[in-house]
Amino acid sequence: MYKEFGIKDEVIDLSEKVENEISSVINEVNKRCEINTMKVLKAFNKYNISDMHFGMTTGYGYGDVGRDTIEKVFAEVLGAEDCLVRSQFISGTHALTVALFAFLRPNDTMISICGKPYDTLDEVIGIVPNDSSLKSYGINYEQIDLVEDDFDYQRIADRLSKNDVKLIEIQRSRGYATRKSITIDKIEKVVSVIRSVNKDVIIMVDNCYGEFVDEKEPLAVGADVMVGSLIKNLGGGIAPNGAYIAGKKSLVNLAAERLTAPGLGKEVGPTLGINKYILQGLFFAPSVVASSLKTAIYTSRMLENLGYKPVPAYNEKRSDIVQTVEFGDKDKLIKYCQGIQMGSPIDSNSVPEPWDMPGYTDQVIMAAGAFTQGSSIELSCDAPIRPPYIAFQQGGLTYESGKLGVMKAISQII
Ligand SMILES: *Cc1c(COP(=O)(O)O)cnc(C)c1O
Repeated sequence: MYKEFGIKDEVIDLSEKVENEISSVINEVNKRCEINTMKVLKAFNKYNISDMHFGMTTGYGYGDVGRDTIEKVFAEVLGAEDCLVRSQFISGTHALTVALFAFLRPNDTMISICGKPYDTLDEVIGIVPNDSSLKSYGINYEQIDLVEDDFDYQRIADRLSKNDVKLIEIQRSRGYATRKSITIDKIEKVVSVIRSVNKDVIIMVDNCYGEFVDEKEPLAVGADVMVGSLIKNLGGGIAPNGAYIAGKKSLVNLAAERLTAPGLGKEVGPTLGINKYILQGLFFAPSVVASSLKTAIYTSRMLENLGYKPVPAYNEKRSDIVQTVEFGDKDKLIKYCQGIQMGSPIDSNSVPEPWDMPGYTDQVIMAAGAFTQGSSIELSCDAPIRPPYIAFQQGGLTYESGKLGVMKAISQII
């Protein structure tokens, strides 16, 4: 069957060896999965989720009991005072944009303390010129780079002591950067440094790809607000679209008034039949995130054995579901991505090619044979076409399908 599926003999042998090597790391992932599953079940219990919450509203969406309860459940699971969970958020980028425009006013300053933020925020912030950027509204942007994959604590403390900064952005996942993801411990440390010099600055975390990877989320260690996408971790592969903003009640309220309209806020927003999928997705999410992590761990060890440079290493502490692999070679990178597509459940006969994707500065190749368009909690692999030709792989709804996809991709480059 392996052969018929296009997997080479050498890959089968290596796979057996690798699965033995990674077994104790996999056990740790399983333990964390159980803890996060318990968090979800407790929240479902607390709010007595039942069939009535699967109902829907249309039009303005007033009085949507399902939607309102979903937001309480998400808040409970994420340790937030309040939460917006909406399909009216088109994507993670949109939710981050809504949050930034909601919290910042002309002449305010925001600082990214993880170096340059995710590529799609370039035009939002105005790093790349855009007539609708924050910059066009007179909002200033500054950046403090990481030092050896950790915060520059001293510079951050010095800069914040002036008390003229409105918002700090922390990006937990690496995005399209080669740095490592930021662990919850490091976020805790930087929050305490920030708070020792500045009580007021809003600490906002881009939590995309981070949810359920650890036992704690950034809010538990002092962040004020965090943002993530439902076609990544928390949607569990079931949510059809959407994103969330969770945190302090006052901030969630500002975001709601920006998403809809001042005076309307959280009270409107039709759910059009998706409530069940949002809840079911959250229910599956801890297990799906665990499957993604196991696929990443497996990939890391497989490719390490083959002489490539994966980050993180299979046994390294993780804070997101992203696995990067440096191929150092454009053709190998493209072939590997095409192999991931071949090993996907949907569109396995399509051949992805690099293209000029809106919002990104370099050409990007994206392998995504996914049930939900663009969903990267499903096995997917993308790469900006620039040296040293690094692939960013993430997802895997089930470990078995993720592993098989990776075996097939490796068979393409061996
Ligand atoms: C995916 C991602 C985003 C943007 O999310 P989209 O849903 O693709 O718009 C922002 N930040 C990080 C770190 C991400 O991984």
